[in-house]
Amino acid sequence: MALIEVAGLTKSYGATQAVRGVDFEVEEGEIFGILGPNGAGKTTAVECVAGIRTPDAGRVRVLGLDPRTERAELRQVLGVQLQESRLPERLRVGEALDLFASFYRDPADPGRLLHDFHLESKRRTAVKALSGGQQQRLSIALALVGNPKVAILDELTTGLDPRARRDTWQVVEQVRDRGVTVVLVTHFMEEAERLCDRIALIDQGRIAALDTPAALISDVSGGQRLRFRSADAVDRSALSALDEVADVMVEGRTVTVTGRGDLAGAVEAELARQGVSTDGVRTETTTLEDAYLSLTGRSLGGHAETEGADA
Ligand code: ADP
Repeated sequence: MALIEVAGLTKSYGATQAVRGVDFEVEEGEIFGILGPNGAGKTTAVECVAGIRTPDAGRVRVLGLDPRTERAELRQVLGVQLQESRLPERLRVGEALDLFASFYRDPADPGRLLHDFHLESKRRTAVKALSGGQQQRLSIALALVGNPKVAILDELTTGLDPRARRDTWQVVEQVRDRGVTVVLVTHFMEEAERLCDRIALIDQGRIAALDTPAALISDVSGGQRLRFRSADAVDRSALSALDEVADVMVEGRTVTVTGRGDLAGAVEAELARQGVSTDGVRTETTTLEDAYLSLTGRSLGGHAETEGADA
């Protein structure tokens, strides 16, 4: 059953077309990822789902509710953890949970949430005195205090060190295990790959592909990637013509080949036929980053941070 239905969603800010006709459905019980570099339109899309922004066009339903006209009802079933949720700095952790719980008809037990999110010892600590990881755990706890059916978590591990990031991932899995359907917005490929049942790859306001991580990786990049270096000239078109080969990239002396089946065997035989000697053909693991790159020609990675900022 689809808990969230989005069809033809479009939203511009002045001349910036942030979301350009996006369709997806989120099924009950899944962790659904929205993955793309900064500026791709992820936050805008989920803010429309949460009723925080009004779309220019398109249809959005969350458990059958229209986020624009049924916001009060929606708030009872949808928990939202947005980027940099601002809390008054002097508010204590326990007070924040009690305050948020008071907004809901049937809230979760704040004490229980403190326990589950390892914040019991921080009950009387001011929010501003928490570490980054603790603040993220608190913001997820706050998103869950209304006992929502669906939780939207936006860039929840940005700014965390690798250890705190992994701890947060465990918490997200626990959230799903409580029966909460999760929409996870991220620009970290590793996070999406590790946590999500299905992922929408979003590029410049459009969905480039939507599938399970495994299917995205094998369908799009061909499933396997080989790399070798050679001082000899390689007949690239003969390599490309092999049945097993999907794509050949040459950068200086480094050759990267993606494809399927017995790719290494086929490539090594062809290189021997060409009389090309290499430093050894290495098989590398393909990732969502490969899939994203091959679909969009763009990288998910690091420097996208600044690209998004001035878009
Ligand atoms: P993401 O969440 O993928 O980083 P956003 O939805 O935040 O993407 O942004 C998509 C595009 O819309 C970007 O070009 C961004 O600069 C622009 N944008 C986002 N919010 C606003 C806003 N409030 N006013 C104007 N432009 C915005």
